[in-house]
Amino acid sequence: MCEHALSPPDRGVLPILDVLQYNNPKLHRPYPMANDTNSCDCSCNCADPLPLFQVGNEQLDSLDLKVALLTQGIYVHDAVYQKFDKTCRLSQNLYSCNTMFIADRLPIYIARTETAASPFHLAVRNDKPVVLYNDEFVTEVEFAPKPDFYSHKTSAGNLYGQLAIIQGWDILSFPYLWPCGIAVGGHPCRFCHCGNATLQAVGAKQWNGFEYRPEEIAEIVQYAVEADPKVQLLQLTAGSTFDADAEIDRYVTILQAIDKAVGLDRCPPFIFLTPPKDIRLLDKLFDAGVGKIACDLDVWSETLFDAYCPGKTKQTSRQRHLDALLYVADKYGPNRACSVFVAGLEPIDSLLAGFTYLAEHGIVPLPSPWMPYGVSAHGLPDPPGLDYYRTMRRETAKLYIEHNLVISCTVGSSVCLSSDIWLRRTLLAG
Ligand code: SF4
Repeated sequence: MCEHALSPPDRGVLPILDVLQYNNPKLHRPYPMANDTNSCDCSCNCADPLPLFQVGNEQLDSLDLKVALLTQGIYVHDAVYQKFDKTCRLSQNLYSCNTMFIADRLPIYIARTETAASPFHLAVRNDKPVVLYNDEFVTEVEFAPKPDFYSHKTSAGNLYGQLAIIQGWDILSFPYLWPCGIAVGGHPCRFCHCGNATLQAVGAKQWNGFEYRPEEIAEIVQYAVEADPKVQLLQLTAGSTFDADAEIDRYVTILQAIDKAVGLDRCPPFIFLTPPKDIRLLDKLFDAGVGKIACDLDVWSETLFDAYCPGKTKQTSRQRHLDALLYVADKYGPNRACSVFVAGLEPIDSLLAGFTYLAEHGIVPLPSPWMPYGVSAHGLPDPPGLDYYRTMRRETAKLYIEHNLVISCTVGSSVCLSSDIWLRRTLLAG
């Protein structure tokens, strides 16, 4: 799955936001960049025990709680927006990437459900935002300060939020730079929120294509890196196209524009892309200064890949995705090629077989939990229980250590679990 599959882009009009001081020094302290080596400098607190939370009859650690909140969703009380959306990075817009932080600086995407029957609620108690489970207190949470970022427009008149979101603490993500041709053509990956939203818009005859100029993208990166909120990580994602070779050239032009505006070395981009027919074309991206690339496999099982990614099966094939990853790892070394997996769609043994194969080849598996709401989950499995994710995180941590795999991160992503695991890999590997 492409990273954008988890968080559709903000195509709505965000109001001009007041820039107010956020007075929480705890969240204002700079988060150190974890070293890009496999030896932990303890800036990531990797040996600290995970905080525990009482959730109903169960005691969950922070990573369990993140998975539970992402897979089950949370109902957000209006009072939360009323109290915090002026000062915090929080918006009622469905396509915003609202994130809350819990005790060990763990970012968690606020996966809003529309029904108050959901057991998890985000509410206000004693003037603080809190997570409740069946009306019982679970934990206080915090939000990032509201950045000035979303009030700005590109020189072409597009609000920055139409193209990009700030996710986690300091990740600038362009989640859907151009439409997914596979989704427009009627065969989106079945778990993909962006692809399914696109398909619905096409079906309702409300679909409008879009394309952004490289200079606009570079303007946004420059502002986010240099001015506000001073991001440290950059992700570029777009829909899969039928002309993957031309997609490479498009990304090269974008890289050149970013390099000219801000310098790629200040924020080496991580690009999620469609693998080209001639995989040697990937060299163009590395020549242009990309940091890492991902050609997402989403599920390891060949049968389930065909079932869940019908468009990719027809258009690119699982084998081409794998070939592209192996080519990059072979030519550019470990930690330059990655693949997102939708953890929870296939049996754990199958998922871990894929992780092991990739890790042995220097390719970084990035597990992201299966989030069923918001897409038509007909024929897709319910998310598995927490034991599945506990096994996954333990075995993934072992693979990260054993094969010296590195995730570039500070505090992690709002959804993807790879940074959370990597930052705590020593503890989780046991
Ligand atoms: S290929 Fe299209 S439908 Fe599939 S994950 Fe990417 S954007 Fe979504």
